[in-house]
Amino acid sequence: MKFLTMAEILQPCVGKDWAVGAYDTFNLETTQAIVDASAADQAPAIIMIYPNDAPQAEWPTLVRLIESEVERANIPAALVLDHAKTLDEIEYALELGFSGVMIDASLAPLEQNIALTSRAVELAHAVGASVEAELGHVGVGDDVISEDEQQAHLTRVDEAERFVRETGVDALAISIGTLHGLYRGKPHLDFERIAQLRAACSIPLVLHGGSDTPDQDLRRAIELGIDKINIWTDVRIPFLQTLKDALAGGPIGKVNVHEAFGAARGKATEIIRQKNKLLGSVGKASQYR
Ligand SMILES: [Zn+2]
Repeated sequence: MKFLTMAEILQPCVGKDWAVGAYDTFNLETTQAIVDASAADQAPAIIMIYPNDAPQAEWPTLVRLIESEVERANIPAALVLDHAKTLDEIEYALELGFSGVMIDASLAPLEQNIALTSRAVELAHAVGASVEAELGHVGVGDDVISEDEQQAHLTRVDEAERFVRETGVDALAISIGTLHGLYRGKPHLDFERIAQLRAACSIPLVLHGGSDTPDQDLRRAIELGIDKINIWTDVRIPFLQTLKDALAGGPIGKVNVHEAFGAARGKATEIIRQKNKLLGSVGKASQYR
């Protein structure tokens, strides 16, 4: 199975008013949900493995599973390592055939982020894979931080221009007010900053923290220049809730495991299809053939 690189899968939506959904997986059912949704919607998919939810020891098996599912459905897909912190993780992912890696040095000083990202770009480009980096820092919705701290974490336009030029990175995750997981209050997206970053950088722009963000905010972000949106919490919670409900129905010894996990897979598929529709990626698979 040949995955498209992250650069290849994002290229058709740059400058257009649609984005590619990037969804994390950690097992068979979440992989099938992404692939089923993509096949039903004829939408491109970025399938991501997030080290916090899928330990490195499981990657070889997961990669084979993802390859097999993507082949079954014959969809345009990229396989991306989400939030790698070290070059060791990246080297291992590239060995296993990932077509894209994200290096997250977003909390390091700018010079260190540039150095680490440049090295990741060298490693990935040597095997024909793509790299996403993060500039500014997308935090976690649960964390309590001050307004000033939050402002300081937003991506600076002058730094972004320099970062992209010096690292040769293929996609840039920007911090414009979204946060990972669930928000404590209402998110406040800095739309003006998206427009400025779009004007300053020609590569695809990525939004992390796509979950729990109002639909109209995501639409506006896409129209202003976002090309890839990472979504996990909005899939993970309904997946787990459906599984929990299926297990709570009666005596645990009587549970039909295929039905229980199948219900969770079905729910995740339904959510991902809603997201594909929102992002405007439905029917776009034909652009890759
Ligand atoms: Zn993220």
